[in-house]
Amino acid sequence: MSRLPFMAGNWKMNKTIDEAVDLVRQLKASLSGVTGVEVAVGPPFTALHAVCRELQGSPIGVAAQNLFWEEKGAFTGEVSPAMLKDAGCDYVIVGHSERRQYFGETDETVNRRLKAALVHGLKPIFCVGETLRERDEEKTFAVIQRQLEGGLKDLESKEFISVVLAYEPVWAIGTGKTATPEQAEEVHRFIRERLAKMYSSDVADAIRIQYGGSVTPENVRGLMAQPDIDGALVGGASLKSDSFTKIVRFKEI
Ligand code: PEP
Repeated sequence: MSRLPFMAGNWKMNKTIDEAVDLVRQLKASLSGVTGVEVAVGPPFTALHAVCRELQGSPIGVAAQNLFWEEKGAFTGEVSPAMLKDAGCDYVIVGHSERRQYFGETDETVNRRLKAALVHGLKPIFCVGETLRERDEEKTFAVIQRQLEGGLKDLESKEFISVVLAYEPVWAIGTGKTATPEQAEEVHRFIRERLAKMYSSDVADAIRIQYGGSVTPENVRGLMAQPDIDGALVGGASLKSDSFTKIVRFKEI
């Protein structure tokens, strides 16, 4: 099964509207003509509409970094799936470890967000990953299994097929400490095996699993050479056109 590589940038809480538009202008130019890889950027909420407008007609997609599951109403500070669609988003990141760590995200709330995204035609990038402590205590597989089962609860194959998985070991995010290609592959393979059990081997084969955690132009090729790594969710290195372009163009490095 050949899966189209997918490189997505998570800009986190960075970039004003002008800076965001400037970055995507540069990316449109530096990525023009690139084929065989899907690309998306993940600006903060405030810049989503401007970035979507700037990217109209371009193959670069746009991901929001979170969403709330309700349609509308008295939920101060939240953003609904329909609002993200209205801004022009294609994707939404769900369950990022920073949301789990700092904002009380649980497997149950991840599940509610995933379902709401899918109902509204937003493709979720669903993040899972263990902390350093969990890895040291040899709980990596148990944690990933719990996150998969909790996050995907009651999601049928026909819905799940639009989901992109991102394996992001928490100890590798923003630390400069990447998982080795072998460490990452071991967990990606485990995720695919679990998905085969939860759905079917056809579904598991079709699902893309990104790796995230200090991906750079220097380490991307080694990661992408692994059979179960289908792309990257990139934080720091997606904030500059030069480094993100090199990651997207990994085959040419
Ligand atoms: C992320 O934010 O999802 C991420 C992987 O960040 P970084 O690439 O900076 O480690």
